[in-house]
Amino acid sequence: MTEHTKTDGLPGIDAPELPQVLERARPRNERMNASKVECNACPVLCQISEGRAGACDRYANQAGVLVRVDPVVFLRRTLDAGEAPLVSFAGRAEAGQAPQPWSGDLLLADEVFVTGVGSSTTYPDYKPAPFIVGSQVQGVDMVTVVTEGIFSYCSFKVKIDTDRFLGSEQANVRYKGEVVGHVTTAEYGSQMLSLGGVHHLTGGTKKEGRITAEMMQLLGNKQAVELTIDGGSQLAIQAGRAPIVNGVAEQRMRVGCGSAAIGIFARQFYGHADEVVVVDDHITGVLTEHQAGRCLDMRPSGVQMRGRKSTPGRYFQVANPGTGWGGTDIADPLAIIEGWDPAVAWPGLRLLMTSTTGEHACWYVLDDDLVPVKAQMPLEIQRIVDRIGENCEPSLASVLFLGGAGGSLRAGVTENPVLLTRSIKHALVNVTCGGAPAYVWPGGGITVMADVLRMPDNSFGTVPTPAIVAPIEFSMRRADYDALGGHTDQVRSLREVLERGAWHNDGAPQARSWQALPAANPWPLGRPPLLG
Ligand code: SF4
Repeated sequence: MTEHTKTDGLPGIDAPELPQVLERARPRNERMNASKVECNACPVLCQISEGRAGACDRYANQAGVLVRVDPVVFLRRTLDAGEAPLVSFAGRAEAGQAPQPWSGDLLLADEVFVTGVGSSTTYPDYKPAPFIVGSQVQGVDMVTVVTEGIFSYCSFKVKIDTDRFLGSEQANVRYKGEVVGHVTTAEYGSQMLSLGGVHHLTGGTKKEGRITAEMMQLLGNKQAVELTIDGGSQLAIQAGRAPIVNGVAEQRMRVGCGSAAIGIFARQFYGHADEVVVVDDHITGVLTEHQAGRCLDMRPSGVQMRGRKSTPGRYFQVANPGTGWGGTDIADPLAIIEGWDPAVAWPGLRLLMTSTTGEHACWYVLDDDLVPVKAQMPLEIQRIVDRIGENCEPSLASVLFLGGAGGSLRAGVTENPVLLTRSIKHALVNVTCGGAPAYVWPGGGITVMADVLRMPDNSFGTVPTPAIVAPIEFSMRRADYDALGGHTDQVRSLREVLERGAWHNDGAPQARSWQALPAANPWPLGRPPLLG
């Protein structure tokens, strides 16, 4: 029988008797086999046979008990550097295995942070978060509300450090043939993709949603995915690794645009070259015409460039975008030179043409007919080209998770969700994703962004609705948690958490060994102004 509790109710309104929240609803199907359990951690409501896992592979029926099969991941603060290497109850309980008792070692650690990874969720939304952990930090009572959010509104922003043409802005990006995102606005030295998102997860066909969720889970979990861009390139990307474009691993991220490269290295070129052209799909730079060359009082060379002149020594659109020199489609750099002004140029003029990364470079000398003739590059020039390469950074793919905290997440923290939103905006609450720092977007709602490389391995899961499962934690002073109408009766000490597990779990977290993570994140409970 359902128990009832009396609450204070809203001011001026008689307090009704409210039902106590059951750990799980009664099965919808009364004729469900008694050996099955119904999982209600998401709207799919799997009925799971003993020894089997549900559709998402995250929950299982273990001897008639519903268990979350992945271990909860904990962070422990190192005493010396204030870093937070990851430690976890590593490993994964196979359905049917008995949970192992927790050794208690964690209690010896000075500070422990419970992450949302493996913590389970709050569906159907009004339940308190699975872990609401009370702790003391520097004498201040703190609370961390921990959950695995189910995100329909979420995407990955991918930054690919390359000049090469990947595809036109707005071009579709495909995974296994399905459209899963698009090319978005390029940034300095990088091409950008926007992948996943609500329209691909739920706005298209079932297959599109399933494939999108699969791609997002892989990408979030730091795995490689192969993508094709309509009218563009084939890509293999993985967070923190060099992107592979059309089968070739990118090496260098350019030092700057062609104009910037001219400016940076102009003084080094002075006296060694009469003209330098830095080929770039964005801005191709021409030294003697550029302000840098003029300030060095360099003699004009008379070179006449193709493309559209922007300002002196800076040219747009010298060629089409491509995977050749400087992100253009050219293989022969002389193709961007229209000619030479015979009244200005002179036989013997020394010309360097280089790309923005120094990966491509050629040295020419004008003959008597003012035709550039390829020649052996002098050592001094080669050194500068090498320095351009040296100033390039390794080309990487960076993957940021971007998600909006919806009803279940906020109701898991408080009965009055807008107070949580306001508290975050007033910097009273620190939001983390698996312990990684999360940037909270300005404006309404709780839209957060986090670098997947700073999150624990395998932080992301999926449910077949389809949606993405990702960890999120809200840390604040206990007094602020009380003030925002938090579920204060559900606050548990770390010791209780370790002994009992989540409030609607049936046992303690499964004990496993520690696991270290290389990323050095700021300690989630130490960020000002939480501790003043
Ligand atoms: S898909 Fe997963 S979370 Fe959803 S009901 Fe099934 S087992 Fe539970």
